[in-house]
Amino acid sequence: MSEIVLKITGLRVSYGGIQAVKGVDLEVRKGELVSLIGANGAGKTTTLKAITGLQPITDGEVHYAGRTINGQGAYDLVRQGLCMVPEGRGVFTRMTIAENLQMGAYTRKDKEIDSDIDKVYGIFPRLKERRDQLAGTMSGGEQQMLAMGRALMSRPQVLLLDEPSMGLSPIMVDKIFEVVEDISKQGVTILLVEQNAKRALGLADRGYVMDSGQVTMTGPAEELLHDPRVRAAYLGE
Ligand code: ATP
Repeated sequence: MSEIVLKITGLRVSYGGIQAVKGVDLEVRKGELVSLIGANGAGKTTTLKAITGLQPITDGEVHYAGRTINGQGAYDLVRQGLCMVPEGRGVFTRMTIAENLQMGAYTRKDKEIDSDIDKVYGIFPRLKERRDQLAGTMSGGEQQMLAMGRALMSRPQVLLLDEPSMGLSPIMVDKIFEVVEDISKQGVTILLVEQNAKRALGLADRGYVMDSGQVTMTGPAEELLHDPRVRAAYLGE
């Protein structure tokens, strides 16, 4: 088995007096694709935000690449290879597609940025066609592609994806899951938060199920997919 690259122990996060994450343990090994599923409000997004320093941690530890990263900001983490694609995408709406991709490489100083942009255009030909268009004028699916492309420009070792399929048409959902699989096959470690439990577990090596701020089940994705409790609660069966 490969080494653990991301490890969360006893994570607690509160908003005011309300505990959104209540003692979560989770680990991701190098090269793995791990899906975190659960109902609305289960605490999945909060967990990702706590990992990347966007939400203060009440208690617990986040380890990345062998070090504690509690309290480190998103910029430092991107430089260390840990990059999040947020829910709602967060693209720079008043910049063009090409400019957004350039921004994704802001932590890099090497000379391969242009060739990496070409690689992103290879994955998402639509972005190439529209490279001079303002990101804010693109469809939701196109913005999701751009957000993922921009994250790839940082050459991440670990990618945290928050609900990449949310609000997209079925064709676009297919495309996004295809790309997540491709990125994973290229060796990028992925922690995928998804409402679409069937698709997310279908791709993943392992999965975690969250409910009311706690991890209620974990195991090989294949086992979770066939677990009657998961099927009843999250696959609509
Ligand atoms: P969803 O799929 O709907 O995004 P989630 O599993 O990602 O759900 P979170 O967004 O992490 O869940 O929310 C967990 C809990 O924390 C919810 O009860 C939510 O209402 C609450 N919460 C989230 N963000 C805030 C905030 N900024 N202020 C107060 N409460 C919040």
